[in-house]
Amino acid sequence: MVYDYDLLVIGAGSGGVRAARIAAGYGKKVAICESDKVGGTCVIRGCVPKKLFVYASQYNKLFKTAKTFGWDVQSQFNWTTLLQNKNDEIDRLNGIYLKLLSNAGVELIKGHGSFVNEHTVDVGGEHYTAENILIATGGVPTIPNIPGRQYVITSNEALDLPELPETITINGGGYIAVEFAGIFNSLGVKVNLVYRGQQILRGFDDQVAQFAQESFVEAGINVMTNTEITAVEKDVDGYVCQSNNGDIRSDAVFFATGRKANTASLNLEQVGIKIKPNGQVIVNKGQQTNLPHILAVGDVCNSDNLTPVAIREGHYLVNRLFNKGNQYPEYDFIPTTVFSQPEIGTCGLTEAEAKAQYTNIECFTSTFRAMKYAMSEVTEKTLMKIVVNTDTDQVLGIHVCGADGGEMIQGFGVALKQGLTKTQLNSTIGIHPTSAEEFVTL
Ligand code: NDP
Repeated sequence: MVYDYDLLVIGAGSGGVRAARIAAGYGKKVAICESDKVGGTCVIRGCVPKKLFVYASQYNKLFKTAKTFGWDVQSQFNWTTLLQNKNDEIDRLNGIYLKLLSNAGVELIKGHGSFVNEHTVDVGGEHYTAENILIATGGVPTIPNIPGRQYVITSNEALDLPELPETITINGGGYIAVEFAGIFNSLGVKVNLVYRGQQILRGFDDQVAQFAQESFVEAGINVMTNTEITAVEKDVDGYVCQSNNGDIRSDAVFFATGRKANTASLNLEQVGIKIKPNGQVIVNKGQQTNLPHILAVGDVCNSDNLTPVAIREGHYLVNRLFNKGNQYPEYDFIPTTVFSQPEIGTCGLTEAEAKAQYTNIECFTSTFRAMKYAMSEVTEKTLMKIVVNTDTDQVLGIHVCGADGGEMIQGFGVALKQGLTKTQLNSTIGIHPTSAEEFVTL
């Protein structure tokens, strides 16, 4: 059987683009289909625009600290300018991705791909055949099925609001909810952060999550825990969220209640590809579905919904397929950052996870005010925490909530992955004056 392509990728996000580009570099005939711009969630409606908004919003705090360093800054924020510049930057990145693909010899097929049979994909009525097909369609936001859900925006729309609301209600207590709560709060929007449970940031170290929540409250966010929104209504003044804690009124309602695999319109059942009840494609260690030449990478199939994980899965997959590679992604000690304000950097086990897995655990913590805020009206503090197995001296987890936490945690992630011990940590000389030096003196 002769196919049109050696590899056909469905979805030009981080994982798909990497896989396509590397496979083409190995001399394979590769096509990628995409109905939107190239770059996927991360570049178009996720990490990149979100981080630009985080930077934009942080100027508020910088201007407050500037005074104490002798700068008299008159500042005024313009949302339209930010939106325009953000869109220009995304267009620039889209252009770079397009060039990367065409330079590598990857054919871009514009349109939505769906399976016709196990070697054929339909894009806009045209049929394309391939020896291997990679599903890299990522995820989409989910909104619970409550009355008034049509009034609710998600992170997709929050990145393109025509104007900044005066008040916003954000439902959820995970990555996206707290990141956007920080952005809007720092841009001067009155934020209600509504969470159904006792403590936001479930799954993070409890002490870090509690510290983060207290910091958000201190920064001015109205955090409402144990609160479930049951319906959303619209009236002349805006929106009303009905909840077990009464009505919550605001100019916009944003749900960050999780994401699901983007598999709904791929026609997977047509070819018998197995999926989990939550819609995720089931893959083995080698990223193969139950049909071994149909593969999947990234949010559509994995449990670590992070861009670098999708990229690694796509890259190693095509190495194995076309270049005799035998490497598989390793999922232990993946460092991650929540770009909240203050931000949270974390790698390895939480205290609770460590206690569940090991007998003798000791935690070392430090709380302080970062030097850059020491002279200013900014009261934000930093919490640093390490979790150690005292039987082996191995550092099992490193966590930080505070300024520059994300930048700190990447390097420590390298050390943790190599089996860092507390003794090794303490034998390292700190860099003074930094916040990160606290980690080597704990
Ligand atoms: P998360 O899974 O992180 O958080 C979802 C939140 O919504 C949780 O607090 C959850 O509560 C709550 N929730 C779920 N269902 C309901 C419901 N029916 N009613 C009320 N609340 C509900 O999802 P996100 O959408 O924030 O992010 C998705 C993933 O994307 C993240 O897990 C992460 O992997 C990735 N991401 C990474 C980023 C980064 O690296 N900086 C940034 C953004 C996203 P509960 O805890 O009770 O389940």
